[in-house]
Amino acid sequence: KKIREMRCMTTRKPHVVCIPYPAQGHVTPMMMLAKLLHSHGFHITFVNTQYNHRRLLRSKALSSADVLPDFRFESIPDGLPPSDEDATQDIPSLCESIQNNALPPFLDLLRQLNEGSPPVSCVVSDGVMSFTVDAATELSIPEVMFWTPSACGFMGYLQYKHLLERGLTPLKDESDITNGYLDMAVEWIPGLKNMRLKDLPTFIRTTDPDDIMLNYCNREAQRASMAKAVIMNTFDELEQPVLEAMAAMLPPIYTIGPLTLLSRRAPDNPLTSVRSNLWKEESGCLEWLHGRAPASVVYVNFGSITVMTNTQLIEFAWGLANCKYEFLWVIRPDLVKGDAAVLPEEFLEETKGRGLLASWCPQEAVLSHASVGGFLTHSGWNSTIESISNGVAMLSWPFFAEQQTNCRYACTEWGVGMEIDNDVKREEVEASIRELMGGEKGKEMRKKAAEWKERAVRATQPGGSSFLNLDRLVNEVLLL
Ligand code: UDP
Repeated sequence: KKIREMRCMTTRKPHVVCIPYPAQGHVTPMMMLAKLLHSHGFHITFVNTQYNHRRLLRSKALSSADVLPDFRFESIPDGLPPSDEDATQDIPSLCESIQNNALPPFLDLLRQLNEGSPPVSCVVSDGVMSFTVDAATELSIPEVMFWTPSACGFMGYLQYKHLLERGLTPLKDESDITNGYLDMAVEWIPGLKNMRLKDLPTFIRTTDPDDIMLNYCNREAQRASMAKAVIMNTFDELEQPVLEAMAAMLPPIYTIGPLTLLSRRAPDNPLTSVRSNLWKEESGCLEWLHGRAPASVVYVNFGSITVMTNTQLIEFAWGLANCKYEFLWVIRPDLVKGDAAVLPEEFLEETKGRGLLASWCPQEAVLSHASVGGFLTHSGWNSTIESISNGVAMLSWPFFAEQQTNCRYACTEWGVGMEIDNDVKREEVEASIRELMGGEKGKEMRKKAAEWKERAVRATQPGGSSFLNLDRLVNEVLLL
């Protein structure tokens, strides 16, 4: 009887199918959104790639016991050769494969879900999974797109079309990457300030007109206009001018960030045990932080995709050793290009008891820990907004995509960041950390970070812009 009642209950619910792009920085915010929608009374089907679904089971982020009758998981193939590796997939190959292969299995799944109970009321897809619009259109299901980057980064992708038309990309020659060409000011982009070519998402740095990433991002950005609405993980006060400019170019935009803060408002969610990390978290990181003084630890993490050479890793290592601060450094197993990370014995000796190395951590919990005093980051958008949400100032070593744009905004607009040169040297790492943790500029950055945190908290509280926008998204779009 109970099961029948439950079914009855679930069949009446509106059904949202959530499908993230299959990388960590997309799965995590989509999962937060899915849980929020579930807490607003939606039946959710969360669609991963088979590769990521297996990884989530292996990392213990998911277990079959976690599945509720009204929060289900499905998976589709990504079209790449099967693999049991625990590593970030090659992004261009993944994009190409998704574009070429993902529509038929998704259409089949959507049809099946739609014929089941409850039928599908809406697809909420990642912005860079626009093949889903074709499936949704075929079945007359509305589609909403969730663009997971910052608004300034997304605006950069929306401009790819104009950059191509103006002949600013592809580059004429490889040497343009280093000869100062990328320093050119770009003043014509609506809503963006103080931009140079090198602050725009990096896929324009190619000489190849057929470059996969340049074309993929351009196409996906142009297809944003096919959605019924666009969701973004930012908040109005943080990116007002660019959001206003975007409003004239896109379907209605719903800014509901920082999702990490909005999610904290539903703590009793029965889905708290459902997590989204593709790597197994080392919980020892938190215990270690518990024993440290307030704001004393430098947290170092370059996210899920960044790779570096072992030489660069060693420069960071000596910068950390020489600055004399305590640090928590997450070195993903696949962080060093083509090989395992090798750190000098002397570094390990020198920093014994003062530094903790880990392979993956629960970042949100780390950033909200009182012992963390600063964050050395690659400026991925999730890391940036999580850092802002917790009032933590940043040192930024952007790797690719719109991380350069986030870094520029963190440094020049929000005043919460300082950039480390791409050609990283230990002396600069040491000096920057000293500044961040104990210098005058660091003090100013930490003050700004605390102010932004306050604004972020306000935006996600009842009556705040993101709080209201989530309600509006539910009532104006998803329930119609
Ligand atoms: N993350 C984490 N633990 C780690 C490293 C990363 O939980 O050790 C999470 C982090 O909190 C963020 C996401 O992984 O939500 C990384 O996304 P981001 O956009 O910052 O960077 P990307 O991995 O896409 O480059």
